[in-house]
Formats: sequence, structure tokens, C-alpha cells
Amino acid sequence: MRIVRGFFCLAAAAAVLFAQSQAPEKASQKDPKKDPDQIGNRQVDKGLNWYSIDKEMALGKAWAQQVQQNAQMVDDPVISEYVNRVGQNLARNSDAKFPLIIKVMHDDSPNALSLPGGFMFVNTGLILTAASEAELAGGMAHEIGHIAARHVTRTLTRQQASQLATIPLIFIGGWAGYGARQSAGALLPIGMLHFDRAFESEADLLGLEYMYKAGYDPNGLVDMFEKIDSLTKKKPGRAARIFSDHPLTGDRITAAQKDIQELLKSQPQYVVTTSEFEQVKARLIALEHKRKPAPQDDPNRPTLHRAPDKHIGLVAAE
Ligand code: ZN
Repeated sequence: MRIVRGFFCLAAAAAVLFAQSQAPEKASQKDPKKDPDQIGNRQVDKGLNWYSIDKEMALGKAWAQQVQQNAQMVDDPVISEYVNRVGQNLARNSDAKFPLIIKVMHDDSPNALSLPGGFMFVNTGLILTAASEAELAGGMAHEIGHIAARHVTRTLTRQQASQLATIPLIFIGGWAGYGARQSAGALLPIGMLHFDRAFESEADLLGLEYMYKAGYDPNGLVDMFEKIDSLTKKKPGRAARIFSDHPLTGDRITAAQKDIQELLKSQPQYVVTTSEFEQVKARLIALEHKRKPAPQDDPNRPTLHRAPDKHIGLVAAE
């Protein structure tokens, strides 16, 4: 990988850069990230990143192709168009530098997958779990937060920097070879990509702001979190599979409630739900019933969620 190779003889420098990337972010009231009036005019993706915008988009495109080959997409035009419209409205009210490309995929877990470069996959389970458009928008806005802040490529950069810093120079050739294999076209490293706690709460904060700016009740995100939390408690086995590396802590719910109170000036009116949401959900339920056998019941079907550590989405990561 060119980006990696450029740094391969600078293991010490990489260590310094990595240390810088780990520095805690300032969390003062003046932090532009906490001011929804500055959406679109602030650098929410600031931080060590060895990927250019173009490189990130190429990587996201390659990974998105793999997701599409391994998961079943929803090709219903009404559902796709609706979910896309909700997402594009959020994206217009976000800091994202990438055009958003949204697909809906059959997967019963209430989640979504954000890839680098603006590629997002919304699970049918997220739509079916949501009780309102605001809840669905909350889940999607959180993902757009990850995309806008370029969390995947920043996480990859950190991982590469940390590995570079510990690899003896004698193995550099090997690492460069490894880097080349990881460039566009390489396998989607689901499971390697765990957002840390800071990125996760940043995506929560950005998601709340994007929903709010798009006119939604930001409590939709809190409601969605609470739903997932109660699902986790009710079905611990299933939840363990879904949320193994992304526990939804009570802290996140409390933090989101606090952010809403402190940062988002109350509006006289919010969009909570639409009749269109209800229609799309009913259509999806009918579509799921028609599918035989339901792919989630087929143990041989390869899905993104079969493997215990394959997950980087909505409730993503600590
Ligand atoms: Zn997340």
C-alpha cells in the first residue's frame, strides 16, 4: 500500500504519530463538534489519517462490492428509494465529505454497516426494529457520523502505525508486502475494525446533531439505543452474537440524553415519524414473509453476521 510504504522506514516517527493520534480530544463547550450551527464548516475528521479522500473511496468501493457479493440485497425499489431518501437528507445535514451510497441488505440484526468513503449498508433488522422514522434516522445518522469523521480509515491508520512501530526493520519488506495486499481489492477486514470508545461516542454525538439539523426528534436515537439494550437483555445469546464487540453501555444512553439537553436547543416541532415509514415497514414485513427459506434460518448461508466477530456497525465498537 503506497501510504504505508511511504512510512515504512520511519518506524520511530510512526510511533510518535500514533501517540499523537491517541491524544484525548478536547471537550470544551467551544468545541465546534458540539455546535450543530457549525455543521458542514468544521473538521470532524481531523486526526491522523494516511488515506486520501480518493484512496478512502476506492477502498470503500472495493469492500462494498464484497459485501454485495456476500449478503443479500433488498432490491425492492420502494424500500430502497425511501431508505436512500432518509439517508441523503441526513447526509445533506452532516459534515460528510463523501457522497453517500446506501443499500439495504437482508439481515435481521438491528444494525447498519458503514464502510469508508460513504458506503453504507442498512440492515432490514434496523428498519424492522425501529418504531418510527426518527429511530431509523437515528441509527443511520450514527453511521453517517462514523463516515463523516472517517473513523474506519483513521482506525486503519492507527492499527498500521502501531504495527509499524513494533515491527523490526528487518521485516519491513514483509510488511510492505502485507500493506500491498491490504490495498483496494483486498478482503474486507470485518472483525479487525473495532472503533474505540471515543469514536463510538463521537458518532453518537454527530448522529444526534445530524438528526436534529435534519428536523428529527433526536430522542429517536436514544429510543433506538434503549430498544437494542432491552433486546440484548431479552435475548442474550443472540445479542452476544450481534453485539459481541460492541456493547451498548448505559453510559452511551445517558451521554446521548445529556447531549440532547445541553447542546440541542429545543425546537417547537420535530419529525417523529411519517406514514411513509409505516408503509415501507409493512412492505418489508410482507417481503420477509415471502422469502423462503428465510436466509437467516439457513445455517449454510454466508452472511456478514455469522462469524462472531464480524460486525462494525451501528452499535459498533468499544
Ligand atoms: Zn458506531
